[in-house]
Amino acid sequence: MPKFQNAMSIFQLLDKSNCRLCGEKTCMAFAGAVFTGRRSLSECPRLDRNIIETFSEVPQDQRDTEQNPDDFIEQLKNKIRDIDLKAAATRTGGRYENDRLIIKVMGKDFSVNPAGVISTDIHVNHWITAPFLNYVLHGRGVEPTGNWLSFRELANGKERYPLFKKRCEEQMKQVADNYTEFFDDMVHIFSGKQVDPVFQSDISVILSPLPKVPVMVCYWLPEEGMQSTLNVFFDQTADQNLDIGSIFSIGAGLSQMFTRLAQRHGVTRASGAGH
Ligand code: SF4
Repeated sequence: MPKFQNAMSIFQLLDKSNCRLCGEKTCMAFAGAVFTGRRSLSECPRLDRNIIETFSEVPQDQRDTEQNPDDFIEQLKNKIRDIDLKAAATRTGGRYENDRLIIKVMGKDFSVNPAGVISTDIHVNHWITAPFLNYVLHGRGVEPTGNWLSFRELANGKERYPLFKKRCEEQMKQVADNYTEFFDDMVHIFSGKQVDPVFQSDISVILSPLPKVPVMVCYWLPEEGMQSTLNVFFDQTADQNLDIGSIFSIGAGLSQMFTRLAQRHGVTRASGAGH
């Protein structure tokens, strides 16, 4: 993404009408929010799409991965041949059986053999396959501490946070707002664990997409004219066990999966969340 030097360079792209359609009082306030990562340029409905694309928030490495997922996964599988899967079992929180490293992905076995061939009981999706392989290859095996951080507080998370907010938190919030089984599904289908509400939320559920990369989803119900809120948190060790691009993929992938689940149950209002 072309880097902005300051809020003024963002302000200069805007139409300066102070129309408030973005929810900010002025274009300058919006520019400041984009600069600090709280808002995304694409949230100004008056901004030309070409400008938004030019200043796209998708980092180049992520764009390459999303455009050529098969090539990217193939490269990762080839690298699996160079590592000792038996030794990786302890580091990853998995187990080694019958020449395979087996890791629990949201309660289900997900395994890889020395040739990089993956097998699983669940439908294999790119959003989890690449993070799984990166976790096996590069995860440092640091034990989670129970201290939760937002995506933007993780190493290299700030730059990608506006896009994470849009593709993960906002989309998941739409599902939570409209699909009453959302948190039950997390617990019963995806082996999530409901915990005592954290950060004064109304509900908090912890998922385990990878053993040492837990994800906590917190939801605040709407009250007194305030909208509901949903935030996703990661353990403070997440960026040592997984690269930021893979953490992004997990958040966006979970959100997409729950959106589809809600759609299958006929909760159509969430369908505008995109996928
Ligand atoms: S929607 Fe765009 S033009 Fe309107 S106030 Fe916000 S930034 Fe300015």
